[in-house]
Amino acid sequence: MHPDLILLNGNIITVSGGRAEALAVKDQKIIALGRNAQIKKLANENTKTLDLKGKTVLPGFVDAHTHLVGVGLKKTLYLDLSEARSLDEALERVREAAKARGKGNWVIGQGWDESRWPQKRYVTKRDLDRVAPQNPVAVVRVDGHMLTANSKALEAIKISAYPAEVDKENGLLREQAVSQFLQQLRPPLDELKRALNEAIKMAHSLGITSIHDIPSIDAFKAWQALRDELKLRVTLNVPIEQLDKFTELGFRTGFGDDWLKLGAVKIFSDGSIGAGNAALFEPYADRPGRGKLNYEQARLNELVQKAHKNGFQVMIHAIGDRAIQAALEALKAAGIDAEARARIEHFELPTPSQIEQMKKLGIIASMQPNFLQWSGPGQLYETRLGTKRDARIDPHRHVLEKGVKLAFGSDCMPIGPLYGIHLAVNAPYEIQKLSVEEAIRCYTLNAAFAAFEEKSKGSIEVGKLADLVVLSEDPQRAADRVKDIKVEMTFIGGERVF
Ligand SMILES: [Zn+2]
Repeated sequence: MHPDLILLNGNIITVSGGRAEALAVKDQKIIALGRNAQIKKLANENTKTLDLKGKTVLPGFVDAHTHLVGVGLKKTLYLDLSEARSLDEALERVREAAKARGKGNWVIGQGWDESRWPQKRYVTKRDLDRVAPQNPVAVVRVDGHMLTANSKALEAIKISAYPAEVDKENGLLREQAVSQFLQQLRPPLDELKRALNEAIKMAHSLGITSIHDIPSIDAFKAWQALRDELKLRVTLNVPIEQLDKFTELGFRTGFGDDWLKLGAVKIFSDGSIGAGNAALFEPYADRPGRGKLNYEQARLNELVQKAHKNGFQVMIHAIGDRAIQAALEALKAAGIDAEARARIEHFELPTPSQIEQMKKLGIIASMQPNFLQWSGPGQLYETRLGTKRDARIDPHRHVLEKGVKLAFGSDCMPIGPLYGIHLAVNAPYEIQKLSVEEAIRCYTLNAAFAAFEEKSKGSIEVGKLADLVVLSEDPQRAADRVKDIKVEMTFIGGERVF
């Protein structure tokens, strides 16, 4: 049992308890952990040795909520608008892209965020018509819950089913209308594969070794097509619209292997705060209305029950307090207990009593600390919700203190665990703040737990997969600048992928 690889002279943070200096890997797994001298003794002439020179090692990060095809397409096919610092800059990029692609060809942009712009308003149809009158153009907001299309694009695409979600006047589409629109523009399989390969490279460079992906249905095909060469561990979560198809074929949560497996069924209970359609108990501060629930309670209950009965873990997207209440009621009505590990995604604006109910029902809070970029004085959440509600948004500390299992992900806004950990540690309000150690655990072991995988990953222990990340600095000694720490190496199953 000589190891394939040994790592020596490390500052290994195991997450499961304590630190170690060295470890040994054989057949993708960690077979020994301890002091240098102990581990050195296991090696023979076929063992590769790596001297870490005191560098910090963590378990590979598990991003518990991401959409990797979108990340990749932004690098390959789509126009990335996430860095635009004003509306004019975003429109200028659209103008250039339209020119480069030629008259009549599609321009699809992603990632615009009006809260970053001095104008503080959404892109409209007129804006896009002005800069690209000859091209169909569609630009998706950073949260994916909203899209602006120009006149040419609205002529080309049929949106039939969701009149309430279409503002023709301004070219603004929301929720299901967005998915219906984009469904008609899906790139071919080869493009999806190319996008995923780019996104996987990016994930490696950020220290991510596992993801819980929430793909559109054609992305399942792309992931499957990459299966044999896959260098990322992927849990695919099934959109509720596809549940019948999957259950008919006998699929359920857990099907697959250490590389590619089926996770939960995903149900949307509401929209987002940025798009102004997260469902709130009290009205928005900057617009009329309280947002919108996607389903009547009885229908949500029915969907949750159906997924649960058919052997699927359930994940419900719920951002506003009213949507969280609806999700909790549906999970309770379905008789779901802690064993089922149901998840509420985002869980941004819970009331204290809702956090207690999470604990009681054993539901996992799957949250995204990088959303804190929109919290604090003068930021988007304060504008939308008012100061009082902004000060109780994303309450990671309260969630942990109440004993609720908390898993972290990125929702690709943007992806990057160190960035998320940084924001959780340096959050604007006390109830949002975690210690570095707590935030790391949420992004590793707890995220693994949220996909029933805490026995095989999420910490550095003998018997677990050798998914590891080597950092330039110890985050526990650099709490105020975690986001500046560099990922130096990433290992998946003991193989160096970055
Ligand atoms: Zn998402």
